[in-house]
Amino acid sequence: MRPTGRLHLGNYEGALKNWVKLQDSYQSFHFVADWHALTSDYADTSKINENTMAMVTDWLAAGLDPNKATIFVQSLVPEHAELHIYFSNVTPLGWLERVPTYKEQRENITNKDLDNYAFLGYPVLQAADICMYKADYVPVGKDQAAHVELTREIVRRFNNFYGDVFPEPEALHTEVLTLVGTDGRKMSKSYNNTIELADAPDVIRAKVRQMITDRTRVKRADPGHPEDCDVCRMHRLFVPVAVADKFDDDCRSARIGCVDRKNALADALIEYLAPVTERLNHYRENQDEVRDILMEGVKRAREEAGRVMSEVRKAMKIAWF
Ligand code: ADP
Repeated sequence: MRPTGRLHLGNYEGALKNWVKLQDSYQSFHFVADWHALTSDYADTSKINENTMAMVTDWLAAGLDPNKATIFVQSLVPEHAELHIYFSNVTPLGWLERVPTYKEQRENITNKDLDNYAFLGYPVLQAADICMYKADYVPVGKDQAAHVELTREIVRRFNNFYGDVFPEPEALHTEVLTLVGTDGRKMSKSYNNTIELADAPDVIRAKVRQMITDRTRVKRADPGHPEDCDVCRMHRLFVPVAVADKFDDDCRSARIGCVDRKNALADALIEYLAPVTERLNHYRENQDEVRDILMEGVKRAREEAGRVMSEVRKAMKIAWF
């Protein structure tokens, strides 16, 4: 994950919750992709370190366990850059120009310079990130499928030249829902419509209060249409089905108003996030502990990366010792 700062409920539902589940059955590596943040944000690097700490704090709050998963910062494992160079040689330019997100982002993102060498090459760096640990699986959303496919192609070409060094990684897609934000669009940092994991209960209440409900329900006495209401739909995701059904009935018959449902949603979110909030409070007060966890992760990652790089250099016949 690129260090963009505090994480939101959408990141939790769409990615983190899954990582936390996977750490019990797989040997996992999670890193802060600060070099990837540089490819588009090289002009202003002032927030990267601060965002890294905030994001890792949120990872730990979400339940990522440093005793099970290795958590580190990309720039502290320079082996990634070395492997990136070797992979750059075996990656034809055409493969990169054809990556769907490349064209799409070049056209849509106008406030940043994406006309640089690093932005074109970032899928090669991703390939190095994945292969550095000889990963079998990459837990990513469907939007990243093309990047994992490219990694597989790079691996095939590399192995073809230098022998069977890397396994071909597979994307591990899991069904995750796309959470809607407080303005009805996809919850996203870029839309300013997020509920952050670090939001205090009164902030959550205030944000939920701004949400739009059933537009056809003008007066309190009007019957509601919970299926057309963002608040009702979101509430359903965070309470047992029977509870949501009862609220829907009470909404349709106007026994409750939209404010009642908003209060119920805020209560449900606050309760749902309670264990995350508890860990978050601990780690926010103990940032040294977060730093130590990262440094320990860096140490473990470098051990693994060092072993793989020795093997790579030998296979490429550029090993000196
Ligand atoms: P943002 O849109 O806020 O910038 P990112 O693109 O950095 O979020 O996403 C980081 C991770 O969180 C990705 O794995 C992405 O699929 C997931 N994610 C982001 N927003 C949502 C959402 N609204 N619902 C589900 N998953 C999401």
